[in-house]
Amino acid sequence: MSNQNPTSHRGKIFVLSAPSGTGKSSIISKIIDRPELRLRFSISATSRKPRGTEKHGVEYYFLTSEEFSERACRGEFVEWEEVYPGTCYGTLVSEIDRICDSGHNVIMDIDVKGALNVKKRFGDRAMTIFILPPSKEELERRLRGRATDSEETIAKRLAKADFELGFAPEFDHRVVNDTLEHAADEVAALIAGA
Ligand code: ADP
Ligand code: 5GP
Repeated sequence: MSNQNPTSHRGKIFVLSAPSGTGKSSIISKIIDRPELRLRFSISATSRKPRGTEKHGVEYYFLTSEEFSERACRGEFVEWEEVYPGTCYGTLVSEIDRICDSGHNVIMDIDVKGALNVKKRFGDRAMTIFILPPSKEELERRLRGRATDSEETIAKRLAKADFELGFAPEFDHRVVNDTLEHAADEVAALIAGA
């Protein structure tokens, strides 16, 4: 018999959120290939244009704003948010199915509101993990150190950080990214124990 609701069973969903620059991507890179965790990264769709060497289907599925809204209207997203004014990001149902059908668990890096919506939708099948910077000063240093953003973008991201940090208590777990090794091991332990 065919499975009528392919997203309802099988792989677990691990959701990482944090203010931009805290170190989500760095933590995910450290643990994504640990074989015992059986993780695959969920590639989101976005209406923003590719940056630098970004490719469709690698970092994101790049959609026009029209395509994004049409697919949202057709109910193709597990969740989506206008993360920055005029720019939408969302997790496609087909992406979760693709990963779970291959026998893997899903790891995703999405904004705080999206993360809480995934938790609402998937309940115990999802685990939300909030990554905290050791301090605001260190967050600012990391944003500048990454050297990928303009001053204006850095200022916007820092201004949003307080709002995002306010959601930390609503997550299943909180991990401080003090040293990358420690934070990655702590996240891996949470995943392994799920
Ligand atoms: P995010 O994905 O949350 O936006 P990144 O993983 O891109 O953040 O990290 C932002 C910057 O901080 C990068 O330059 C990264 O190398 C650096 N970084 C990440 N974790 C640490 C850490 N524990 N200590 C020092 N620098 C870090
Ligand atoms: P970027 O720097 O890639 O333009 O922006 C990434 C921001 O969008 C981060 O805050 C990231 O967590 C968020 N994001 C990426 N994909 C998704 C998604 O599928 N859904 C939601 N809600 N946020 C996402």
